[in-house]
Amino acid sequence: FEEGFVRLFTQAARTGRARLFARFNGEALSFATLDRQSDGVAAELRRLGLKPGDRVALMLRNSPLVLSTLFGLAKAGLVWVPINAQQRGEGLRYILEHSEPGAIVAEAEFLPVIAETGAVPAGTPLIVQGDPSAALRLETLLESDAAFEEAPPAPDDTFAIMYTSGTTGRPKGVLVSHRMMRLAGEAVARVSAARDGDVLFVWEPLYHIGGAQMIVMPLIRAVSLAMVDRFSASRFWDQVREYGATHIHYLGGILQILLKQPVSPRDHDHPVRIAWGGGCPKETWTPFEERFGVQIRECYGMTEASSITTCNDEGVVGAVGRPMPWFSVELLDGAGKPVPQGERGEIVVRTDRPGAIFAGYFRNPEATARALKDGALRTGDLGSLDDNGTLLFHGRMTDSVRCKGENVSAWEVEHVAATHPSVEDCAIIGVAADVGEQDIKLFVKPKAGTTLDIPSLSGWLGKQLAPYQNPRYIAVVEEFERTPSQRIMKHKLSPALDGCWD
Ligand code: ATP
Ligand code: MG
Repeated sequence: FEEGFVRLFTQAARTGRARLFARFNGEALSFATLDRQSDGVAAELRRLGLKPGDRVALMLRNSPLVLSTLFGLAKAGLVWVPINAQQRGEGLRYILEHSEPGAIVAEAEFLPVIAETGAVPAGTPLIVQGDPSAALRLETLLESDAAFEEAPPAPDDTFAIMYTSGTTGRPKGVLVSHRMMRLAGEAVARVSAARDGDVLFVWEPLYHIGGAQMIVMPLIRAVSLAMVDRFSASRFWDQVREYGATHIHYLGGILQILLKQPVSPRDHDHPVRIAWGGGCPKETWTPFEERFGVQIRECYGMTEASSITTCNDEGVVGAVGRPMPWFSVELLDGAGKPVPQGERGEIVVRTDRPGAIFAGYFRNPEATARALKDGALRTGDLGSLDDNGTLLFHGRMTDSVRCKGENVSAWEVEHVAATHPSVEDCAIIGVAADVGEQDIKLFVKPKAGTTLDIPSLSGWLGKQLAPYQNPRYIAVVEEFERTPSQRIMKHKLSPALDGCWD
């Protein structure tokens, strides 16, 4: 780990030029192609005047061009600022202004939304994908045969500034070093237990660390990536079969969605052995494993801790498992003391491996000081340890409601409510009650084709939840406003005391 991942890449490229790195919608991309194209990108960006440490914002959906562009930035020591392709308006303006990129690379389609933010100073080079008439074209950079000979960046140099989803406030720019990126890849290698010749199916965009860390895997193991441009529930297993994928990665409700697809006699007919990721509901776990013959490995993690912090490879349904060998996890109370065995506390992560925990947020010393204390990462998440030392995740500390003298984790109430047959999605917030207390207000998006009877939902919840967890108000919404990473924007939910009285 004394190296970042650029040297790994060049070594792998020299020794196995013909080796397959990835296939994208059927198109094969070898190490040789990637090496040549990324040299072109690095050399041409230098020619435009960009120096090591300069930021380059990328607003691109998955394609083979993205891979070459990323390795090009990495070789030249330029800092990647990934931008979610769904970002618009204020969110996009904030990231563009805060990161102050020296150049922007974007699909032609996104130029109007970028221009609308007014956040790009005149003279900033705009490199466009998919428009033959553009002054600066990404395709031209990739085709350049200019060689790039500079030594790779130092391991602690920044590879990317990854903005968090902003679920709890403004997005924060996590500084991701070259070393951290490599370690994130090592984590995938462990969690996936991938063997030579395996194929990792990548449906998720590369602009989150969960997607980005995949590009390191073919440098560590003799595996390749099978990439598609977006998740499709109906085509998922056909794509997996076509590519011969042995591994899939999941986030949030993906496994639930796959489980809701019509049962097929081919459900077991695919080479996938392992699905790893985060956010598989307890109820989905065993039915998914049995129906598709795939082992689930639920992980806990965050961008600040190189993506994967713990992983459950022991099949303990509902748990997020044990720390990666380079991490240790503690549960602390409000005073910073360890909580008694079995009780809930803030998940605090420590490491002695350089780069495993981030160095700070970009231009945000207050948030950095809150997250990093005595070298440990305060995650702001609630966890507990079972008798075997396996971590259980209970949601975010800041996303809790103080109700009837108890701290109620929003995540827990929402997980229960989401299992109701008429509930498609839901969220809770705390609303005003007696002094110092809150009541719970539940917002529900009903499942299409069902009728939601609120009094009966309320009665049903009463049987599943402790009295202090039970929502006092229930409001129906047509659609939730979401962050580009699909998390519900809770601050947009109305705290008005309306909806059904329990
Ligand atoms: P912000 O910090 O701006 O609110 P974010 O925390 O949502 O954004 P990420 O780094 O992508 O941005 O997400 C990490 C968070 O995801 C963790 O802190 C935790 O709250 C949640 N999380 C991690 N693992 C799991 C899991 N297995 N199940 C459910 N939630 C998880
Ligand atoms: Mg966070």
